Amino acid sequence: MNRGSVFIVSAPSGAGKTTLCRMITERLKGIEHSISYTTRAPRPGEVNGRDYYFVDREEFMRMVEGGEFIEWAEVHGNLYGTSKRRLMERIEQGMDVILDIDTQGARQIRQQALEATFIFIMPPSMEVLKQRLLNRGSDSEDVIKRRLKNALDEIADYKHYDYVIINDILEEAFDELKAVILSRRVSISKVDHQWIKEQFLNTESLREY
Ligand code: ADP
Ligand code: 5GP
Repeated sequence: MNRGSVFIVSAPSGAGKTTLCRMITERLKGIEHSISYTTRAPRPGEVNGRDYYFVDREEFMRMVEGGEFIEWAEVHGNLYGTSKRRLMERIEQGMDVILDIDTQGARQIRQQALEATFIFIMPPSMEVLKQRLLNRGSDSEDVIKRRLKNALDEIADYKHYDYVIINDILEEAFDELKAVILSRRVSISKVDHQWIKEQFLNTESLREY
């Protein structure tokens, strides 16, 4: 069986990556969202083990020291990390996996042997970004201010990504993200050469047709 692909999706907070990644895993087969560990407190409606694994700093640092994260970073004052074992297990099983991680985490993945496709989601403007964070209603004014400040640093990193998607009209951004994922699935590196050989390039087919 072919290994699954890894898709790294980064964006400034509020650009819509959670919304887009959820649409992808709901509407596309064979792809799932990697569930990160975080020391951030759950937002209303977030569920432990579905949205994140919520842990305290002590537990998180124990995992860091145990080498359990393929990448981890401090983002907006909280720690976030991706379990190496879980990710490798799923791609070995042929599942595609989306990692919704910040630009520091993406940089750490780029430095490793792991093959991945890097996608950056942009908001249409800073004003819209601010409005989305306010409308989401999940963060205090202070937190929103900090996230908007960090947004500029994150956007400055877009050149290191393979694809840039502007999330203005949600359905259009979804179509673009889906196109990136589907094109990866049909790339030559994913082709089952053995199957093509058996179906078309065996001596019997060559004699018969
Ligand atoms: P992120 O995960 O990047 O922080 P979210 O997915 O939580 O962002 O989106 C932030 C807010 O913006 C949410 O309330 C979401 O419903 C809304 N949103 C996302 N994409 C769009 C869009 N294209 N148009 C309008 N609102 C959007
Ligand atoms: P939020 O608190 O809004 O859910 O996420 C804040 C930021 O942390 C987002 O930029 C998100 O992509 C990032 N993030 C979430 N999980 C991880 C992770 O496992 N590693 C890293 N490096 N960043 C993460």
